Amino acid sequence: MKSFTISANRINEPSHDKEKSKANSLRLFIPAGNADIQYALKNCKALAAWAGRNQYNALIFPLTVFGSGKNKRELNQLKQFALESGIALEAGGWDLSSMVPRRYFFFHKDAFRMEEGKRKKDHHFCPTSLNAIKIIGKEGAKIFLAAAGIEVFHLWPDKEAETIWCSCPTCRAFTFQEQIRIGVNAAADILTAINPNAAITYFEKSNEVCKIPLRKNIIGLENFTFESQNIGSLGT
Ligand SMILES: [Zn+2]
Repeated sequence: MKSFTISANRINEPSHDKEKSKANSLRLFIPAGNADIQYALKNCKALAAWAGRNQYNALIFPLTVFGSGKNKRELNQLKQFALESGIALEAGGWDLSSMVPRRYFFFHKDAFRMEEGKRKKDHHFCPTSLNAIKIIGKEGAKIFLAAAGIEVFHLWPDKEAETIWCSCPTCRAFTFQEQIRIGVNAAADILTAINPNAAITYFEKSNEVCKIPLRKNIIGLENFTFESQNIGSLGT
């Protein structure tokens, strides 16, 4: 089974986390798919030990794993074992789009991104749509409450589609990077209300100047490098 390892540097740390901000290269482990997730949850003690040996900073599981409520016991166990190895359990990944679940498309097309005049179900959403912000509020609250013990949520744009955003008349005034920031800020507002000690990470591919400031509970990540890790045996 393949999983992703990400090394990243942190930028613009939130004020409550100044001490940690000095350290700066993070090794983040993300299971590659459902089979890896189930395997990792079933073998949480071995996973935590393996991650410790391989010097990871955090194990990241998708929001749906927390939101479904099915894996609560395994996640609590994993969190405990990971902490004993000095590793954090975190939530999310390429998960910004899941703040506006695709099931809303049929009745709430205006919340989704526009391309050549038509609303599209794939990739992201329309960040200037009031309806999208409302959905992020509702769905974000559900997720953040379900993952109440988690301190870091990763809300990155869709992998390999980071630049595919909305071209509706209002969004057209914003770059894709600014649109990402509007979406992440909306999620950050909900998180602040539910868990003021938690933070969200996001990342930007380019170094463009951006006119949308980020909320204080958002941590920027930069310089991502990806590699695949085989967790098939968790032996090494
Ligand atoms: Zn739009």
